[in-house]
Parts: sequence; C-alpha cells; structure tokens
Amino acid sequence: MTVESPPDDRVLPVAGPVRVRRAALRLIRLDGRAFAVVLALNALAAGAGLVGPWLLGRIIDEVRAGAAVSTVDRLALAILVFALAQLLLARYAAHLGHRFGERTLARIREEFTDRALALPAAVVERAGTGDLTTRGTTDVAAVGATLRDAGPQVLIAGVQALFILGAVFALDPLLGACGVLGLLGIWFAARWYLRRALTAYLAEGAANSALAEQLATTAAGARTIEALGLQQRRIAACEREIDRCRRTRARTLFLRSVLFPAVDISYVVPVVGVLLAGGVLHAQGAMSLGAVVASALYLRQLSQPLDVILQQMEQLQSSSASFARVEGLGAAVRAAPVAASAPADDRIEVAGVRYAYEGGGDVLHGVDLTVRPGERLVVVGPSGAGKTTLGRLLAGMDRPHTGSVTVGRVPVTDLDPGQLRRHVVLVTQEHHVFLGTLRDNLRIASAHASDAALREALAAVGADWAAELPDGLDTDLGSPEHRPDGARAQQLALARVVLADPHTLILDEATALLDPTTARHTERALAAVLEGRTVIAIAHRLQTAHDADRVAVLEEGRLTELGTHDDLVAADGAYAALWRSWHGERSPAS
Ligand code: ADP
Repeated sequence: MTVESPPDDRVLPVAGPVRVRRAALRLIRLDGRAFAVVLALNALAAGAGLVGPWLLGRIIDEVRAGAAVSTVDRLALAILVFALAQLLLARYAAHLGHRFGERTLARIREEFTDRALALPAAVVERAGTGDLTTRGTTDVAAVGATLRDAGPQVLIAGVQALFILGAVFALDPLLGACGVLGLLGIWFAARWYLRRALTAYLAEGAANSALAEQLATTAAGARTIEALGLQQRRIAACEREIDRCRRTRARTLFLRSVLFPAVDISYVVPVVGVLLAGGVLHAQGAMSLGAVVASALYLRQLSQPLDVILQQMEQLQSSSASFARVEGLGAAVRAAPVAASAPADDRIEVAGVRYAYEGGGDVLHGVDLTVRPGERLVVVGPSGAGKTTLGRLLAGMDRPHTGSVTVGRVPVTDLDPGQLRRHVVLVTQEHHVFLGTLRDNLRIASAHASDAALREALAAVGADWAAELPDGLDTDLGSPEHRPDGARAQQLALARVVLADPHTLILDEATALLDPTTARHTERALAAVLEGRTVIAIAHRLQTAHDADRVAVLEEGRLTELGTHDDLVAADGAYAALWRSWHGERSPAS
C-alpha cells in the first residue's frame, strides 16, 4: 500500500490567531489615517454624549438649591445642543467608517483573487474547488458585512462604553467600582462564550464547505452517478454532510442561548448597586443627589453600547473565523514548496514513482524513465494503465507518493507556476476561453509579451481568423458574436503554449474526439508548437507511436517496454501485439 499524504493536505489551511491579528493590523495600517479619523470622531461623539446625564444631575442639584428658572432653561438647552452634536459627529464617523470598510473589503477581495490564482494546481485539486469557492464567496461576504456594519458599530460602542465608565469614575470612584463590579457577570458570560465560539464557528464553516463540495461534485458528476446507479450512495453522503451542518449549527445556537439571557440579567446589577451605594453616600451627605442620578443614568446608558458589542460579538466571531479561512489561503500559497535552485538543464527524469489517488490503491508501481532533451517519446498502453496519471505527474500537477519526477534535477512540483510553465506544459484537448479580450487570453501565458509576439504566436498556430477580428487583439472574446468555437479555442490554447515557450510538452490525447476538419487544423497547429521541443505524448491511439523516437509501454502501472518502434515490433512483446491489432484494424481501410 502507499504512504498516506498528511491529512491537512486535503483541506486548505486556516490561519492561526497570530496570523489573523497580524493580517487585521496590516489592513488597518494600510488605511491608517482614515481609521484614526474615524476613531477620533467617535471619541468626540461619545464625549458629547456624556454631557447630557451630567447636566441632568446639575439641574437636579440646582433645583434643590432653589436656582432661577432661567438657569434650568440654559442647562436644558445645553443638553439639546450636545445631543445634536453627538448625533452629527456619530453620523459623520459612521459615514467615514463605511468608506474605510468598503476600501478594506476591496483589498481583501483583490488579495484573495491573487492568492487563489497563485495556488498550485495540486493543492486546489486535493482540497476541492468547493472549499475555495465557499471561502471566496460566503467567507469574504461575512468579512465584508463585519467591515461594513458590525466593525464600525463595535468600534463606536467600545469608545462610548469606555467614556461612560470613565465618567462614572470621575463622578465618584466608589460608584465607578460598584458599576464595574456589577458588570463582572457580563464579563464572565462573554469569556465563556468566546472560549467556545471560535471553534464552534470554524466547525460550522468547515461543515458548510464540505456540504458545498458534496453538492458540487454530485451535480458535476450527475450523469456518471446515474449511469453507475450511485444515486443512493450520493444521497446518503449528502445527508451525512447536511446532518453535520445541523449539528454544528445547533452547537453555535446553544452558545448564544446561554450568552444572551446571562447578559440581560447582568445589565440591571450595576444600576442597582450604584443606586444602593449612592443612596447610602447621599444619606451620609458624602454625595449630591445629582451625582447619584447622573451615575445611575450613565450605567443605564452603558447597556446600549454593551448590547451592541454583545450582539455583534457573534458576527465578529463568525467573521473572524471567516477571515481566518480567507487568510489561510495566504498560508497555502506560502506553504507551497519553492525550488531551492533553478533546473540545471532540460532533462526529465522519473525515478521509482508510485502514485495512488485519494482512497485508492497504487495506480503506478515504481516507474523509472529518463527523457532526453529534444526527444519525442510516446507512451502507449491499455486504457486504465496509468498513462494520464503519469502525464499529470510529469506536468507537476501532483507529486508522487514515492520516488521523484525532476526537470534538471529539481522536482517539478517545487517549481513555482511561472517557472514550471517555462519548463513543462501539459497540453490536453480541453481548452478554456477566458472572459476578456484576445490579448488577455494570450497574456495568461506570458504577462509581458508584446502585441507583435502575440500576433506571431497566433500566426504560428495558423489562427488566421484572429487578424480579421474587428478590434484585433482588443476584441472581446466573451461577446456572443466573437466567442471562438472548439477549433479556435484550441488554437488559442496552443498559441498560449507558444508564448509560454516551454522546452517540454506533455500531450494528452485523452479526449481526442475531434471531427476530421478540426483534427487536421489541430495537427497543423500542433506541428508548429512541437517544433524543437521535447515531447512526451500520451497516445490513446497508436498512429503517433510509429513516428516517435522511442515508445514506452505502460501496463497496469508498470513500464514494461521501452525502445524504438522497430525494436519493439522486432521484440514481439506487448507493443508488437498492440501494433499488429491496431495495424490490422487499419490496413483494410487504408
Ligand atoms: P490511462 O490514461 O492509461 O487510461 P489513467 O491514468 O487515467 O489511465 O488511470 C489509471 C488508473 O487510475 C485507473 O484505474 C483509473 O480508474 C484510476 N484513476 C484515474 N483518475 C482517477 C481519479 N481522479 N481518482 C481516482 N482514480 C483515478
């Protein structure tokens, strides 16, 4: 059996608390001035909000001292003015806070896209696109909601709460201490919640991703599932994931159902404490009635920002779990191995390679193969022998579990995508036309290629139609009238190979089901691309084998024969048999 890949290979990593904190601070620093202004405006608004209760206390004391009506009027007017000032300052701070949030969200989105594109193909394949998609949509949206609403609200509430507590302490330290003591209940409840919430929300996020992955793969493979009668198995698998989602959700719901009632009770405690202690102090003449009233009002007022903080804590928790998942992508990109040195030459070497797909047995059982630079090697063998798998390993799309695949003595999977592209490119019959202009579609292969180089590459693969497009390289290939058909899409893909200019091409004819006209076009275009390169062709049909420099025969994951066409036919082994049966089928027609 094979050596298992480590379990964390199968999911994209999640960033740890230190990395999350560092990433959050970095995002704040990138827009530091705006953040500081928002904070200052909030502080001013909170300061203005403190004046009301204090003035109310003054009014009580003035009335008890028998002050004139005009004094009370003036104080009442001042209350109004400060309330208005608080409103305006808070509004403006919220406006700036939203703008800060949107800018930061845009940054997170851009970084996510960059990182997703920089992920090695093998990592994406192993982890599944469902996880990546969930992180790019649900998780980024959760972080966005926090930046837009929860974050600014908590910031404002935090500043308000600090100012209010400060004001109570300023009125009387003893009453302040009473208030803080009364708030201990909230503190304990919140701590209890926070200790458990992050894990619970991470589990909920992972369960959501797994469900999305199950559904996506089930939908994508619907026909196969139907053909093989696997419906019940898939339904059972989906139901298991749905059940896991339900359980993780029930857990987070339980945490909330403990937190909120505990908090509601805790609000009343500090007010009662201050009224009792204040009453005693006032009775002893140590404190004016106005100060006691103001303190009680402040602590009553404290419930509002604390409420906001606690209500948003859930959002903050779930979105910091989301942020950890979004940031985890950075770790995956950085964790991707980087070659210590550049490949010494163009020699491709396969040594002792064993490979197994997830949950299956070995499909390659120790393959050794050296490909000489400039040679044309054709790999043939029965269906299911492991030819495509070998092609994927040669192209660096995955690493063998044992043994190595190297180019110039450097493992192909250690090359970063840009480096790899310059050395080895896998050409299949599956092509993708990206939304965007013709230029965008070509520059994927070589970001800085000049227009002349792009035109040259198109000409090399016989894409004459490109010259006739109305806007030339600026033509939008996403628009229905210019959407390339299969043959043109293929030429585009081959033009990209010309631009990437790798010394080695792996050709996989796995889906060579083209009509004769398209096939002729393709062969002409291919000939231009193959010129002067090392070519390893995975031939599912034998016509390519005859003209190759060497033929490798793969049977049940083992390399059983290797030599020139003539040698192998003369040896009268598996290849000779394959050749005879293919030739026999062909000769009556030809
Ligand atoms: P060939 O290209 O020679 O037809 P493949 O490399 O496609 O052979 O397949 C070799 C073996 O690996 C087969 O038994 C096939 O069922 C299995 N296999 C191929 N792709 C996968 C995959 N993605 N997951 C699991 N098993 C696979």
